[in-house]
Amino acid sequence: MKNLQIDVSGLKDLEKIEQSVEECRLNSLQESVSAHTLKADFSITKNADSFLLNGSVSGQIEISCSRCLETFRLPITAKLNKVYPESTVLIDVEEEIRQEVILTIPVKPLCGEQCKGLCQICGINRNKGTCNCRQEFHDPRWDDLQKIIK
Ligand SMILES: [Zn+2]
Ligand SMILES: [Zn+2]
Repeated sequence: MKNLQIDVSGLKDLEKIEQSVEECRLNSLQESVSAHTLKADFSITKNADSFLLNGSVSGQIEISCSRCLETFRLPITAKLNKVYPESTVLIDVEEEIRQEVILTIPVKPLCGEQCKGLCQICGINRNKGTCNCRQEFHDPRWDDLQKIIK
């Protein structure tokens, strides 16, 4: 992977650095997010008293479904837009991408709108199979009653 810590100390006014990164791998994105390959395009422009980072990120991340816990690929896109003070020497674009990508991750990611989730009783993935838990549902409140009957 290219180094995404961009040295901007040599930039003159209105000068611009442009970069395109095909395989931007972000480590330690989030605990539940494992592998991710993202494409990033960005530019850094020096203005009179600031640096402007502009760009976009797109690609897929691997994440666990909040209902069935299966890993699936979630397409994401994010925009980069940040102003840095004139005194900035190094702009950590990777960190910026990381933060923007995290913002796009849903709180409860779903592998699909129709995800049936896991059976609360036996834990089977109900997208893949069915179980008979409804019929066999065990209500402990009946135990004492059955003892009395016996
Ligand atoms: Zn799911
Ligand atoms: Zn079940």
